[in-house]
Amino acid sequence: MGLIQKNSSLNSKNQQLVQKIENGTVIDHIPQGMSLAIYELLHKRIALDPKKTRTVILTSTESKKYGKKDLIKIENTYPTKSEIDLIAILAPTATIVTIKNWEVVEKYKVEIPDLVPEGVLKCPNQACITYNGHEPVKAKFRVNRVDDTTSLQCWYCGRNLEGAILQYLE
Ligand SMILES: [Zn+2]
Repeated sequence: MGLIQKNSSLNSKNQQLVQKIENGTVIDHIPQGMSLAIYELLHKRIALDPKKTRTVILTSTESKKYGKKDLIKIENTYPTKSEIDLIAILAPTATIVTIKNWEVVEKYKVEIPDLVPEGVLKCPNQACITYNGHEPVKAKFRVNRVDDTTSLQCWYCGRNLEGAILQYLE
């Protein structure tokens, strides 16, 4: 696990502290407090190799637009579309910055998907057709949004996932 720098604001001293990366991904504008959940998500999904991949997690930095926010830098790692969709569910305000050879080559805001496809999350309902691999069907989830609240509903049994989505990762 990389450096965790807590309670910093992005003044010039701290910017020096958080070095630029040569190749990798910066996840910016994460709602305050969500960075560790996103790190855990990526760690579970990508199996980040600590020898090749240094991770910097900055919590509670100042953002003009969003107030306090978190930020993650991950070396030599580029999340896939389905990983970015999960990041969007955890952190709808996040911006993904792709860095190659010290340059920003792409920068975009995440978009909450309408569907979490098969093979990403498990349904906890024991009566669900997807439960425990009884049938060759894997769970997928509708993403329902009401105002600022996002919920995930199993496509097959209609069960809503409660609590942290990390516990339902395949
Ligand atoms: Zn289900």
